[in-house]
Amino acid sequence: MTLVKQENKATIEKPFEGMTLGGHEQVTFCYDEATGLRAIIAIHNTVLGPSLGGLRMWNYANETEALNDVLRLSRGMTYKAAITGLNLGGGKAVIIGNSKTDKSEALIRRFGRFVESLGGKYITAEDVGINTRDMEYISQETKHVSGLPESMGGGGDPSPVTAYGVYMGMKASAKHKWGSDSLAGKTITVQGTGNVGFYLLQLLNKEGAKLVVADINEDNLKKAVAETGATVVGPNDIYDVQADIYAPCALGATLNDDTIPRLKCEIVAGSANNQLAVEDRDGEALIERGIIYAPDFLINAGGLINVYNEVLGKYNRDRVMRHAETIYSQTLAILERAEAQKITPQLAANHIAEERINSIAAIKTRM
Ligand code: NAD
Repeated sequence: MTLVKQENKATIEKPFEGMTLGGHEQVTFCYDEATGLRAIIAIHNTVLGPSLGGLRMWNYANETEALNDVLRLSRGMTYKAAITGLNLGGGKAVIIGNSKTDKSEALIRRFGRFVESLGGKYITAEDVGINTRDMEYISQETKHVSGLPESMGGGGDPSPVTAYGVYMGMKASAKHKWGSDSLAGKTITVQGTGNVGFYLLQLLNKEGAKLVVADINEDNLKKAVAETGATVVGPNDIYDVQADIYAPCALGATLNDDTIPRLKCEIVAGSANNQLAVEDRDGEALIERGIIYAPDFLINAGGLINVYNEVLGKYNRDRVMRHAETIYSQTLAILERAEAQKITPQLAANHIAEERINSIAAIKTRM
């Protein structure tokens, strides 16, 4: 199968055209009049295993917007699972509606029944607009659900695993750039001191890094400073700090026309999704500035590794952490390839992911 790049901003007016563009296998429209459920489940690719991806409930302006989102996100999951070496495919689901006013137990359970009807080709998990209670409802109707809290036999909070994966990706980037992966004495700026940021700061502090943080949430900032002694700068000043590494752990698209020229660091490695505002152009702008970029969708895959281990059964946090360590060697491989081929690390990562999928697809056609 050929995986064709689908631009994030592509407007897909015609569903079949959208599927062809992104190379999707199956898109299921789920409708239930009684509960008002309107959902779309997109299965992008199942070559490596069942498709897995979170369920998002969002007040989309229209169905086209919802379809665009689910096609884009499910494709992203395929690449993320493939580059992380997991035996999972990519999928995603969206419910059209306001998660605060349109949600009911029956609506969420009805969605769970649609997931069940796909017979395990799609495994759902929590995403924006969905909470632990909803996951409980879904699990009443299907066993193809993951990312459950510990109280329900799941793996619980993924943030420490995500932070550890980011830490591994950061150390691998340091090894590639400076020949040593020690972060002792390095100045590291961390944007966002929430769940992932906090655990990352703990790891970096333990290794003796000098930490500079920014957040718009005073409570989170205070907690991070009390724990690690980090220096605080304003949310808009973090890009101008003279540092060795910048770790975006808050929002997407913080690597853009405005911020890239301001960065005074040599490595960018953080947990935020979609850090590059425009993937190719901003990736190249970082290369021109001599800044190494550790691909976000690989180094923040700890959460997916966590969920994957839940799917495997007999969840064990130590095993999950060991698994997250593989992000180190994969980051190194990507950075070496990117340098050798003079392409962005993001593109190198995409190529490695596609090669893995295509090679496994090929053996499935042979006896
Ligand atoms: P979180 O909501 O706990 O923390 C985000 C922090 O960023 C908050 O403290 C928030 O106040 C801060 N923030 C928001 N806007 C800011 C700004 N303009 N400047 C500075 N700080 C700002 O989220 P999280 O779970 O820690 O996730 C952080 C990022 O990593 C998100 O982009 C998330 O999508 C991504 N991610 C998280 C996981 C995970 O396991 N939690 C997994 C993969 C990716």
